This record gives sequence, C-alpha cells and structure tokens, in this order.
Amino acid sequence: ISTTFGFTMAVFLAIPSTDIYVQVAIPVPMRQLFTYKVPAELNTKTITLGERVIVPFGSRQVIAIVLSIDESTEYAPEKIKSVLSRVSDSFNFSPTLLNFIQRCSDYYHHPIGDVFQQALPVLLRQIKQPDVELPQIWLTKSDLSNEEQATTAKRSPKQAELLTMLKQHHGMTWSELLTLGFNKAQLNALEKKQFIYSKTRTVSQFKWQDQALQQENKLALSPEQAIIVATVKEMQSQFSCHLVDGITGSGKTEVYLQAIEQILAKSQQVLVLVPEIGLTPQTLSRFEQRFNVPISLHHSGLNDKERLQTWLEAQRGTAAIVIGTRSAIFTPLHDLGLIIVDEEHDASFKQQDSFRYHARDIAILRARQLDIPIILGTATPSFESLQNALTGKYHYHQLRKRAGNASTAKITLIDVAQQQMEHGLSGTLKQAIKNTLARGEQALIFLNRRGYAPAINCQECHWVADCQRCNKPYTLHQGQRLLICHHCGSQKRIPPQCPSCGSVRIKPIGQGTEQLEEKISSLFPDYSTVRIDRDSTRKKGALAKLLTEVSNKEHQLLIGTQMLAKGHHFPDVTLVAVLDVDGALFSYDFRAAEHMAQLLVQVSGRAGRASKPGRVMVQSNFPEHPLLQDLVNNGYQHFAKQALIERQQALLPPFSFQALFRADANYPSYPEKFLRAMTEMPFEGCQFAGPVPAAMEKKAGKFRFHLILQAKSRKQLHQAVFKLIHQSTNNEWQSKVRWSIDIDPVDLSW
Ligand code: ADP
Ligand code: ZN
Ligand code: ZN
Repeated sequence: ISTTFGFTMAVFLAIPSTDIYVQVAIPVPMRQLFTYKVPAELNTKTITLGERVIVPFGSRQVIAIVLSIDESTEYAPEKIKSVLSRVSDSFNFSPTLLNFIQRCSDYYHHPIGDVFQQALPVLLRQIKQPDVELPQIWLTKSDLSNEEQATTAKRSPKQAELLTMLKQHHGMTWSELLTLGFNKAQLNALEKKQFIYSKTRTVSQFKWQDQALQQENKLALSPEQAIIVATVKEMQSQFSCHLVDGITGSGKTEVYLQAIEQILAKSQQVLVLVPEIGLTPQTLSRFEQRFNVPISLHHSGLNDKERLQTWLEAQRGTAAIVIGTRSAIFTPLHDLGLIIVDEEHDASFKQQDSFRYHARDIAILRARQLDIPIILGTATPSFESLQNALTGKYHYHQLRKRAGNASTAKITLIDVAQQQMEHGLSGTLKQAIKNTLARGEQALIFLNRRGYAPAINCQECHWVADCQRCNKPYTLHQGQRLLICHHCGSQKRIPPQCPSCGSVRIKPIGQGTEQLEEKISSLFPDYSTVRIDRDSTRKKGALAKLLTEVSNKEHQLLIGTQMLAKGHHFPDVTLVAVLDVDGALFSYDFRAAEHMAQLLVQVSGRAGRASKPGRVMVQSNFPEHPLLQDLVNNGYQHFAKQALIERQQALLPPFSFQALFRADANYPSYPEKFLRAMTEMPFEGCQFAGPVPAAMEKKAGKFRFHLILQAKSRKQLHQAVFKLIHQSTNNEWQSKVRWSIDIDPVDLSW
C-alpha cells in the first residue's frame, strides 16, 4: 500500500506548475530587496512570507528572508537566479514580527536585510542548520530529606542555596542557574549526591495558568502600587504605556510581578527587558521565586545555542516569561501580553553601532502593534519619557516612598577646593569612611574611570603617551603592565624611558579604579577592599563571585565604576561616595547633565536599602553649580522638570527631533565634504548643524565628522532623511567615506 501511496503522491507532485518570484531581504548593508525565482519543484508546499531560503549572492550562498511573493517580475526571467533551497524548519517569522521588523527598518532608515540579520539568532543566520534540542531542566529528587538538605547547608551554603532554589521550582535550565550565579561544580556535586537530576523540558504550551503561580511571597500592595497594577489590568487588551517613576526601593519590581501575574493567568507571555541581567542576578531570582513557570533568558552571558533555545521556546509558547537585554526585543513571542522595560533610562538600550535602535522605543512600537500594555520603570526617567508622561501621552505613576521602613539616602556635596586631598579623597570623606567601617558597615566608592591612570607622561619634557590612531592618551593598566587605548582597544608596552627625551621619570597622571583600590587598601589596611569593574570581572563567573563575597561581608570597602550603579542590593552599604562629577557639568553634550543626574541618583540608590539609613557624599570643585544644587536640594524630578524647560527654550529634544549623520575616512576633507554636500538643499521645518569634527575627531586612524539634522516634527525629520538617503547616491564624495544614520541619537561623543 505504501508504495502505491508514494507513487500516487509523486504523480500528484509532478503536475507542472509555473515558476513564481520572491523578493527577499539579504544580510548586506544595501537598502533594497532582491528578486529570485522559486522553481516549481521547490514550491510544492506553498512558500510563505517570512520563510528563510538559501540563495546565491555573488560568489556566496546566504540565508534570505522572503518578504514578497509575486507571480511575475519586471526583470527578464532568464536573468533571475533561482532560490537554491528552502530552509524547512519551523522557525520562520510570523506576519506580525515581519511587520514589526519592517517598521523598525523604516523608522531607523536602516537596511532591512541587516535588521533581519540582527533580529535572528546567530545560529539561524548560518547555512548549516543547527540541531536544536529541547533544553534540559534540573529538579530535586522528591525523596530528598530535610536532614540531607541541612547537612548540605552546613558544608556548602551555595549548594544549599541552589537546592532551595530548585526545590521551589519544577525545573530550571542551566541558563537560569548560570545567570543566578551558580556554577557547574555546584550542580555536579548535588547530582553526585543524588539530590538532583535532570530531564528534558517536555513541551507544554501555554499551560502555566494551571501551574501554581507561587503566592507565598506575594506582598500586600501599597495603595500607590495597587493603583498601577489595577490600571494596567484595566487596559490589558489595548495599547497603553505606563511610566512608573519610583525611587530605588519603592516597590517597582513588586508592581511588575503583580502585573505579570495577571497576564500569566490568561496564559499569555511576558517580555521583560533589562539593561544587563548578568549584573543583577537578584532580579531574576525574584522572578524565579514568585512564578513557577518556564522562564527563558537572553543576554550576552549565554552562548548561541542557549539563545536559540530561548527564541524557540518563545515562539512555540513554551516560555512564559522572556527576560533579556536589548536585542531580546526581537524575540518571536507567540502570544505576548505585556512588555516591561526596567531602568528605561539606561543607555545600554540604545545600540551604538550599525543598526542604531533604541530597544525601549521599539518596545513601545511593538506594544502598539500588538495592542498590549507596556510598563517603563525607573527611578530616573529619561527626559523623553518624562515629557511624554507630563503631557499625558503615557500614564504617569509615581512611587515616592521606599517600601517597608527603609529610609532614603541623603546627598551631601563636598567642596574639594576647600580641603586637603589624599589620593582623591577629601578629609571629610575619609572621616566618613572611617566611621562607617567602625560601625561594621560597608562603604562604596564610585569612580567612573577604569585602569590605573588615564594617562602617563614624562616628568621632564611633558611628553604624553598617546594612541596614534586616536590622538588620545593611553590608559595605564598596571596589573596587566600595559597601556591600553580605551577608544580603539590598541595595546602597548609601558616604555622604560621617554621616547622623546630619554628620561626615565615617566609617571602616571590622574587616578583610575585600579589605583584607587591600591590607595584605599593602604589607607585602611585593617579592612578588605574589593574592586568591581569591567577589568576585574572579565572572567566568566567572576562578578557573581565578587558579589557573593560582598553580601557575605568578606569585604568592607567596595570600589567600582558605573557597573556598580545598577540594581544591586547591598543592604549593609550605608555610605556611597562619588569622587568626581565635574566633567558632566561643563560638557558640549546637552544630555551630559541628564546622564550625570541619573547616575548620581542610581548610585545613591545603593545606600541604605535595608533598615539602616544611608548617606551619599559627592565631591566636586563646583558644589555651588545650579544643576548640582537643584538635584541635591530638590531631587531628580524637580531637576528634570527644570532642565526640560531649558530644553524647550533651546528647542532641543524632546522638543525637537534629531538625526545624526556620521561620516569617516582616512582624510579629514572627505567626510567633511560629503556631509557639507548634504546640507545644500533646505528641508521644510528642518535645520542642519555642522558638519563639525566629532568630539573624538580621530579614532582608530579615521577622521570623523558629524552633521545633525533637527526638525520640528518627526514627520518632517523622516521625510528629510528619506530624501537625503536618496540623494546620497549622487554625492561625489560618497564612495570615499563610510557613513551612517542615527535617528534619535543619544550619545554625540562618538
Ligand atoms: P524597586 O524595584 O523599586 O527598587 P522593589 O520592588 O525591589 O523596589 O522593593 C524594594 C523592597 O521593598 C523589596 O525588599 C520588596 O520586597 C519590598 N516591598 C516592595 N513592595 C512592598 C510592599 N507592598 N509591602 C512591603 N514590602 C514591599
Ligand atoms: Zn621626556
Ligand atoms: Zn586608540
């Protein structure tokens, strides 16, 4: 029978049909679609939009995405190449996701092929198709006795913690455990003791409404919190954007959790975007403790296979919650019911190269497209979001009190001009640190400059070791015995003598975290000092280890960069010191003050989170500066409203809309001329500023120029950009430069 059946099928399939044509997006930086023929034998199962196909492109074969299907073509059919094969798997783009990506490409004026490229997990961009297995999950043995657990707790607290975590849950993946700061050794040890076992996560789609949504640790909401949760619930099946403006510790996360619960109860999925989840295992652990549902993760600490699994679980509807960093916004969640953007002001949501999207902004686009609510949470709203909240475009919710009985940290300014300084510390600050340590509490000292010193120079002829490719000083990294350029990454040995005059008196100038650590240890030899920055946490698992040591109070003095400003809970830190804020007060970048204020408030949020009151001390040469005074005396919100008035008077964003054109080349005249040619034609409602050399005029050997286009309305901006792109093909300098467009630029320094 089977032979006959096979035969019949073959006859049926062999019925000749005509060729069709598809237009596809190809991962190249070109702004067009490409047409290919789909031979009849490849179209036996009808080709669909969003499908991935393999096509010849130049001498290569590439994965392309089908964006339109046509019966005929304007090109001569014999000149059109054929699709080589169809990638027959189930990971194709859904119509809504296709539409979303198309809109992102339009909004940012970025080539569609490249947008798709960035939206797809690495393994799905390759011709060789990956083997995808369902993830393994870890569970505790049901017969695990309390005595056994207690013995483990005594011998290895971390293993016991892992055991408790797993016990609460019916299964966690390695990605989750890794992100929570556990390691393979702990897992293996427990498996060896036969306390835990692993199995394949069986596919149960959208089943979490039946699973116990764990309620034991659910808190009774304050009236302010309750209103937010109720408002979001009321607007569950329509687009609405909610700005939750609440100081650190005011209970924003609790609001997220209870809003999420409502969505999970309807068996829908939730997407949570966070700046850097690897930095804040506590956030994830709160989600894990609250919900006994499959959580999938997407961040840079996971490998390609793990990220592909997240993508697939989201698409199949087996992941209830996806938590991830910036690019998780492209996760193909099957039935998304709510998006949360935590720390919405954070700069890491903006991608700073190639496809320069802002994940918060396109998250709003996605929520609008799907008619679902989105919550933006922060203690320091970006001026853009605040303005939208003040004008009523977003629902504005404020949480002004810390939850529980924690008090808010008080900020004091220290005038460094009036004080004797030692290693960058004023006498007042040194005394405050001493008192804090004497009380058995911890102090956090914040300096946003990695390395040992930001430059080295010759004491005799004043020669400075500059990176030739960037015309900027090398940073000294004493531990690695290297000079490293923080702009282009190039490295160099420390010269034994001055290359200019031969003197051996080469000395570091200024101070970075590495040096501060050394100096602080010598000032407070009886206490343990730890440094947390990108250099000290480069190794996998290093950060989790340091954070655990800090919470175990193995260290009393914490030194760090802005890495430490984010989301950590350090209940015993009662003093936060900020050594240097002056740079931001006198910057050419109109956003510098906004970013400085956000950073100050965020670091202050690290102090006194538990029942102990916290203090923040900020050193400055300009303590009378009105911006600092306003921030310290009246708080971020007042500061932000004042600054918004200034922005309005100066017609700066969010009261106008900008696009930044960047161009670079080996000679400075090329990018300048290229950009100047762009300014020749006026556009209605628009103004050009520039071209001017970029703040980093030279980087990695290239000369860089900026041109800003500013418009009164978004529409005018987009029309002008559209025309400028169109005209650029006739720009005689275009082949000599590399150029890009940045819509809504946030960092003008590169
Ligand atoms: P945020 O996310 O704004 O920093 P969290 O949600 O983490 O604030 O809350 C800070 C602390 O206050 C946490 O320890 C949390 O458990 C507690 N908390 C939050 N909401 C409440 C509440 N309604 N009642 C009691 N404690 C709360
Ligand atoms: Zn010299
Ligand atoms: Zn350099």
